[in-house]
Amino acid sequence: MVRKLKLVLCPSPVVAALLVGLCQASLGQGDADLEALGLAPFSTTLASGRAALFQNVRIFDGKSAALSAPSNVLVRGNIIERISTNPITVDTNTKVLVISADGRMPGLIDAHWHAFMAATSQMLLMTADSSYLHLLAARQAEATLMRGFTTVRDLGGPVFGLKRAIDEGVIIGPRIYPSGAFISQTSGHGDFRFSFELPRTPGGPLSRSEVEGVAAIADSPDEVRLRAREQLRQGASQIKLMAGGGVASPYNPIESTQYTEAEIRAAVEAADNWGTYVTVHAYMPRAIRQAVASGVKCIEHGQLIVEPTAKLLADKGIWWSLQPFLDDEDASPLVNPVSRQKALQVFAGTDNAYKLAKKYHIKTAFGTDLLFDAKVASRQGAQLAKMVRWYMPAERSRWPPQTMAS
Ligand SMILES: [Zn+2]
Repeated sequence: MVRKLKLVLCPSPVVAALLVGLCQASLGQGDADLEALGLAPFSTTLASGRAALFQNVRIFDGKSAALSAPSNVLVRGNIIERISTNPITVDTNTKVLVISADGRMPGLIDAHWHAFMAATSQMLLMTADSSYLHLLAARQAEATLMRGFTTVRDLGGPVFGLKRAIDEGVIIGPRIYPSGAFISQTSGHGDFRFSFELPRTPGGPLSRSEVEGVAAIADSPDEVRLRAREQLRQGASQIKLMAGGGVASPYNPIESTQYTEAEIRAAVEAADNWGTYVTVHAYMPRAIRQAVASGVKCIEHGQLIVEPTAKLLADKGIWWSLQPFLDDEDASPLVNPVSRQKALQVFAGTDNAYKLAKKYHIKTAFGTDLLFDAKVASRQGAQLAKMVRWYMPAERSRWPPQTMAS
């Protein structure tokens, strides 16, 4: 599969032939493919209009608990063009990636993942050489795919290069929908600066986490707009903002509401003009309500929601990206006792959140948000299995309620 992808992406027969020639003399065939890929134009998931034919797959349609009979699926760009149990023939003149799946089933999606931070300790992330951290992230991307997660929505971290290398077949990993740096106000959940990095003079040098592309600190609508557009320019498929207090960040109360409506709206306008959306980190009802009023399309977490706010999400058709955060062996390690206290508060809300998501038929996405530990990251699939506490194994989404068939 990887091999075929490489051939499809060759920039031109001339360059490819030249490189093959060079490699026969020195490097070897595998290296030639990598060199050619490096010269290829940056291919993104959104821009790609390529076709892919999946042969002999078993389809999960989201309605039935059973998988389909062995079938063939033709995808062009991001549209499923044809599904058939009979062979699908394609025009041999067009570039089609053919994947023979040998009766396998589809991959899993994690709607809240951090490819750069999932398996690396917080201390290492703050202190180690950045090239080393990127190599660790690449290793973890392969592990993520091998766990069965073929797509991740990355909700913060420098993964544009990682995504490119995966898309080009240079390394192995899932399809990534990147946010780039998460955008946070000063003192917000994304402000992981060391105390010696404060105060910052406006326009002054960036902190380490900003230079690395983990966080973007922005105060005022203009700064938020700038940072949002910088992420879009690098290929962000959505913008992530910190709209309320968090657990891993010890300096902000979990009850805090972060940003103002005008600041969030600046990011929403930038994303909307680009054809995409803003999603926000928020646990508390007030933070969630302000974000919804500002035009965001999705809430991350929300474990401490209350019933009227859940109803608001339903009424507005807002997506809820919810994680089964529980006080069990899969909880991400937190060194700070303040963070541990906040985590316990969140764990206590998880059951209620899922019950409200179901009660109001809210559009709910599954995500894990596992952080800072390779062993915890390796349990990504186990997080999905925990969903049987609230859902049948193949329970159908019932949003919007009025078109509910069953
Ligand atoms: Zn997260």
